[in-house]
Amino acid sequence: MIPEEGERARFFEGVRLERERRTVAVMIGIYCRSRHASGGSLCPECADLEAYTRLRLEKCPYGEAKPTCANCPIHCYQPHRREQVKRVMAFAGPRILWRHPVLAVRHMLDGRRKAPPLVRGRVAGEAK
Ligand code: SF4
Ligand SMILES: [Zn+2]
Repeated sequence: MIPEEGERARFFEGVRLERERRTVAVMIGIYCRSRHASGGSLCPECADLEAYTRLRLEKCPYGEAKPTCANCPIHCYQPHRREQVKRVMAFAGPRILWRHPVLAVRHMLDGRRKAPPLVRGRVAGEAK
């Protein structure tokens, strides 16, 4: 059965954070394999960066309503982490399109989101 428009939207909303976590992990993997000649697993530096980005996503005050981090008015990353992620994105961004087109397209669509207003550090109306 083809899901209704609303159901489809809810399905994709529900996986928003997980999808972003996967997208970032895939991009760090692409970067690490090419730049650090790592084999199947991440080098310590990239594993550390991946763990850091995962933690930021877990603590993101926007939750499932988050914009992409590049469009975020808060930007919770430490400055040197932000620079690291920028380098990864610049390298892996064009490459992910060929290797993981669905993730890449979803990420591009997510990039159109605007950050919702926060009230006392949380998205207005969101359950605690
Ligand atoms: S940069 Fe913004 S959107 Fe990304 S995790 Fe931090 S607060 Fe959330
Ligand atoms: Zn690496």
